[in-house]
Amino acid sequence: MMQSSSVIDLLGRPLGVLRLSLTARCNLACPYCCPDSVEPQGLLSTLDQLRLIHSACALGVHTLRLTGGEPLLTDRLWPLLEALSVGRATPGHPLSRLKDLAITTNGSLLDDAKAQQLRALGVDRITISLDAVDAESIARMAGLRRGAEAGLELFKRVLAGIDAARAAGYEPDQGALKLNAVIQRGRNDDQLIPLARLARQQRMELRLIEYMDVGNRNGWCLDQVMPATEMIQILHSHWPLQPIGRQPGGTSSQWLYQDGEGSIATIASITEPFCSDCNRLRITADGQAFTCLFASEGIDLRRWLRMDVSDSELAEVMTQLWTGRSDRFSEDRGLMQVGNHHAEMAYLGG
Ligand code: SAM
Ligand code: SF4
Repeated sequence: MMQSSSVIDLLGRPLGVLRLSLTARCNLACPYCCPDSVEPQGLLSTLDQLRLIHSACALGVHTLRLTGGEPLLTDRLWPLLEALSVGRATPGHPLSRLKDLAITTNGSLLDDAKAQQLRALGVDRITISLDAVDAESIARMAGLRRGAEAGLELFKRVLAGIDAARAAGYEPDQGALKLNAVIQRGRNDDQLIPLARLARQQRMELRLIEYMDVGNRNGWCLDQVMPATEMIQILHSHWPLQPIGRQPGGTSSQWLYQDGEGSIATIASITEPFCSDCNRLRITADGQAFTCLFASEGIDLRRWLRMDVSDSELAEVMTQLWTGRSDRFSEDRGLMQVGNHHAEMAYLGG
């Protein structure tokens, strides 16, 4: 039977957000992320994706974020969005419980046609990732071999993507268009002020992400993490800031510019973990469910899809998955074994 309230895990946390990765591949190669060059075996079909999303909505998911790899790299995005928009518009359909549909993209493939299509198919919010303004730094952070020239090219494409999103109706002032930047000490921390300036000019909220130890390939070390408090101190000395705090179940802490020019946010999953109210389930492009970004192994949902279980059986499998969850790996980071295997970020979808 379909449930209307959220399932609750062993630490009292309700399920609320599903992050679905559409592909593990990417057209960029950010060294902090290290995407795969080939897809994992056995990608979910659109029908598989829809069945999982239905079940998740029946268990309380109200927000779906589509991610990757690079979600705009795969044509499988479009039939999924079409089916979602029909379901969301049908009264009583499990998908009508989906209040918020968002996508995270590196913005480099976003043009007018795609932005309009996203809008027409009901995508409510777009988050665009950009880690620098200086062309050399952009190239370094995106793993582009041709240096500043390629960095400048990417910068222009991302700016065009932002313009396209705005022209399609994604209003930054309404929180529908945001900018993500990973800040790595010694690599792009000099880009903090230029990035904030760009975001202010664009009237977009910039979300500064602490460099996370997700995956095994990026050679993560604590020395490269710039704590959110330090980022805020630097910004505060340029543009005084006033803290707003973090919404329950949210990942970002917000700060208002005291000059009235909007807000900025930090995602401090290393120095100020927010496991205590984590409401996020992640499903990879090949149907592995992860209840935590820092988990080493997922739970294979594709196995159940291949067995052709009924919708209620699938919902039961997902209920068991969530209700049995007690992970809070980021808070327990100090207790974790060094060298623990982690799934890669582009596979998990961030
Ligand atoms: N390709 C898309 C993009 O870059 O927006 C979507 C996928 S990407 C994995 C999602 C988000 O994860 C991006 O904002 C990216 O910057 C962030 N990310 C990737 N690796 C990270 C890491 N090691 N630490 C912190 N954030 C990371
Ligand atoms: Fe690609 Fe996004 Fe990973 Fe960069 S962060 S390599 S854009 S998936």
